[in-house]
Amino acid sequence: MRPDDSVDTIKGIGDKTRSLFEKLDVNTVGELLTFYPREYETFSYPVKIKELVPGRVGAVEASLSNIKSIRKGNLDLLTCTAKDSTGIVDLAWYNQSYLKSSLSVAYHYIIRGKVVKKGKFLRFEQPKLYKREEYLSLMKTLSPIYPLTAGLTNNAVKKAVKQALVLAEDVPEYIPADIRKKYKLLKKGTCLNEVHFPKSEETLCDAKKTLIFEEFFLFALFLREMSGKKETLKSPHIFKNDEICNKFIAGLPFELTRDQMNTFEDIKKDTSSGRVMVRLIQGDVGSGKTVIAELAALLATASGAQACVMVPTEVLANQHYEDFKKSLEPLGVKVDILTGSLKASDKKGARKRAEEGETDILIGTQALIQDSVAFKNLGLVVTDEQHRFGVNQRLTLSDKGNIPHVLVMSATPIPRTLAMMLYGDMDISVIKEMPKGRLPIKNAVVGAGYHEAAYKHIERELSAGHQAYVICPMVEASELLDAKDVTSYKDELADRFKGYEVEMLHGRMTPAQKDEIMGRFASGEVKLLVSTTVIEVGVNVPNATVMMIENSERFGLAQLHQLRGRVGRGNAQSYCIFFYEGNDENTKERLNVIGNSNDGFFIASEDMRLRGPGDMFLGLRQSGEFELKVGDIFRDADILKLATEEANALSDSKRSEILEETLRNGGKTMFAFFKAYASI
Ligand code: ADP
Ligand code: MG
Repeated sequence: MRPDDSVDTIKGIGDKTRSLFEKLDVNTVGELLTFYPREYETFSYPVKIKELVPGRVGAVEASLSNIKSIRKGNLDLLTCTAKDSTGIVDLAWYNQSYLKSSLSVAYHYIIRGKVVKKGKFLRFEQPKLYKREEYLSLMKTLSPIYPLTAGLTNNAVKKAVKQALVLAEDVPEYIPADIRKKYKLLKKGTCLNEVHFPKSEETLCDAKKTLIFEEFFLFALFLREMSGKKETLKSPHIFKNDEICNKFIAGLPFELTRDQMNTFEDIKKDTSSGRVMVRLIQGDVGSGKTVIAELAALLATASGAQACVMVPTEVLANQHYEDFKKSLEPLGVKVDILTGSLKASDKKGARKRAEEGETDILIGTQALIQDSVAFKNLGLVVTDEQHRFGVNQRLTLSDKGNIPHVLVMSATPIPRTLAMMLYGDMDISVIKEMPKGRLPIKNAVVGAGYHEAAYKHIERELSAGHQAYVICPMVEASELLDAKDVTSYKDELADRFKGYEVEMLHGRMTPAQKDEIMGRFASGEVKLLVSTTVIEVGVNVPNATVMMIENSERFGLAQLHQLRGRVGRGNAQSYCIFFYEGNDENTKERLNVIGNSNDGFFIASEDMRLRGPGDMFLGLRQSGEFELKVGDIFRDADILKLATEEANALSDSKRSEILEETLRNGGKTMFAFFKAYASI
């Protein structure tokens, strides 16, 4: 067997199982080795029945009585009652009545499974029963639980992995020996064995550290190779004339925060130096990045150069267009827009005006500007909401023509170490301070029973002249999922809020429809907007003071934070109400993080910490910007730092050598992030 053999070379895997593994993106034996468990099952000492906690897995030692099986139509239910000195608990199995013959009222069992609350009583659903000795021996082990797909059992994966592990000893080491020694890293083969079948918590922890170190190390090497060396290119664009910017600042209805001032100073310094500016502006949602973009663009135009502002969505392009026009046209600056939903002739016109130099500032969606516009004299490129774009895309436009200055704006709360890695070729300005006079958003994390009170609250805000968002996870009702949908909820709320204009917004509408609705919401005509997460990015309607999010349990914390950032953008008190379904304790704990804090950086790190021990390998898989398999930039920030330092200290030739080696050995598939970048 070799690492790049198909998984069906493993005994017991035929066509059917192979195609199930394919669904999980596991095609080869080598990929099976790095198909890490999602978490580990631990067998803790049994507790008393009265100590069981609903929503969690628990184990008790008890005797059985009242064993019954019931068959009703499709339902095949097996139940019994377990009892110890402190109370009773029900046991229930669905479609497993064959278990009945193995249950006996004569023994004590250790019963283990998920506990739920049914009316007044507790119930184990689909529990497993063990004899005492059997359970005690299990208590010493950690048993892997793999991410699965329908038709593939955990046991089948375990068996397959066990066989694949004969290859573990021969897996190549990528980290140079001296570095491995310095940090006491384990052998790769040992790590793989430990991660799948840990001997103990401690050995597992050591193995993970090594794997995480390796992942960060290769990640750092890779990024470094991608971004090349930091270049200090000469720039033909020297912006010296900031008179008009001062005038603009003086005319603002607010005072810039110190961080905003400093950021603009950074930009002025960069763009007057004769070298090309490549700067990242990092600032949490609502920290006021748009005005910085406006200032930078104004600075460019004052020196006769053109600027373009690229955003990920049409909704945002239109909003920026209106904003820029309103604040800059009175100063004689010509602002134009280019988006996909414009009529062909309007697009053509916008391109022509940009090409002939008639337009000073062009705003639009990234794809369109990047692919189709040749500017007359482009001096500045601003990319807003950078976290929506891939790292690799960020500089393509600036390759065009005469090397414009580059400004990138992101609300992703990433640690500085990582920002430096990801954007190693950029300078960074951070906007930490929120605008003055902002009241912190008041949050509530509540179950469905609170709806009436929430509606009353929304009504109060609307009657005070404010506006509100209601967010649902789905566009239309679905039979499969029990979650709120925009379409029917909009009708329901229109009924509930008679006398107020209620509208909906979702991704299946045409760009023109979305614009029309967003425009009417921004102008204050629409009072209540029922929307999917399409409004997540950048939308700014400061008069909106309430957001109500349905099925919050279906969203990630980072996403909830971005969503919530749509309110609290003016001086009025704002509110965010997070509704959730079900009574899972973990969900509540997670949502309470966001309920108790408005700080994006804190939320992101808590999110990671919470997933931490229980869900070790989830990492940042969902972040979109990059994919890591074992490492987690928040939880493992210290390892990240060391691994990056070591990677950066290598010589160019050593770096290339290691990367080539990883690619030769199927590194492309061994590390998720290679996949993400393989297309470059
Ligand atoms: P983001 O950083 O999320 O892009 P925006 O630039 O959209 O935030 O700003 C959010 C709101 O705050 C806008 O209405 C903007 O006009 C306002 N704002 C920006 N800077 C300040 C400031 N220094 N003082 C008061 N309000 C500000
Ligand atoms: Mg913004």
